Amino acid sequence: MTRIAELVTANSAGHMHGYNYAYLDELTKKEIRRGLLKAVAIPGHQVPFGSREMPIARGWGTGGLQITLSLIGSGDVVKIIDQGTDAGVNALNIKRLITRTTGLETTEDTAEATVIQTRHRIPEERLHKHQILVLQVPLPEPLRLVEPSEAKTRQLHADQDYTKAWVYLYEDIVRNGQLTHAAGYPVLVDERYVMATSPVPRWDVPRFHQADCLFLFGAGREKRIYAVPPRTDVRPLDFADYPFDVERFPQGCAICGSTTTFLDEHPAADGVARTYTCSDTAACEKRVAGGVLDPWPSFSNSRSRE
Ligand SMILES: [Zn+2]
Repeated sequence: MTRIAELVTANSAGHMHGYNYAYLDELTKKEIRRGLLKAVAIPGHQVPFGSREMPIARGWGTGGLQITLSLIGSGDVVKIIDQGTDAGVNALNIKRLITRTTGLETTEDTAEATVIQTRHRIPEERLHKHQILVLQVPLPEPLRLVEPSEAKTRQLHADQDYTKAWVYLYEDIVRNGQLTHAAGYPVLVDERYVMATSPVPRWDVPRFHQADCLFLFGAGREKRIYAVPPRTDVRPLDFADYPFDVERFPQGCAICGSTTTFLDEHPAADGVARTYTCSDTAACEKRVAGGVLDPWPSFSNSRSRE
């Protein structure tokens, strides 16, 4: 009888006995890669796929994980982040599953990674053409807030009828005086499909536009994958008099002093004073250690930005 202790012992190939390389069976990986090719060919279009049961609950990154496991192979270096940190419980457990079933190396250094899986952030260091960012997506349908029927949203996408999405943004401004989307801000991809930007903050949305890397999105519970290939136009939906804008912070990072990164807010014990630190902890540590970071182009909300 096989014992658990034997299963978790790395074999000569560097991964666990009793499991296929990268956990999923080869036909499943092939099906996911075929879906990814279609997603890359039609940027922003949601491609259905047969999402498998994974050893983590749906809603905890099964979509992103299935994409990562379908892609990685010998020579890849994997980085996993959750809320910008490599040390989150979700990130650590996904990393453990990947290393145990592949024997691949992992890193916390964005520049070293070939495949990065993330839940809430795009790393502060700019990604390049040899890198893939895999996003874990909870709600892939950008029209779900305005149209509950799946059949109707498919039809609206097919007709490129995004009237309801625009009306929603208009009503948001009328009610709140500004665009209030905190995460998943809707964007128009390659002048064709409106796409949900996963749960990344508005801060990260401009990074999808004309990037060098490949972005892949996986929604395990909703059984959808979609993609933004390198050098693709990705524009936030906004109005000339209410342009898209990113979050602003009243002070810099309390650790590295950065004023050009997305910051997490920490209320003090008195509930009044607040401190801010970098959400991307690996970039923050690199800056403190005197390392050189390759930043993304800085965001300007002038209408002429390209
Ligand atoms: Zn910092």
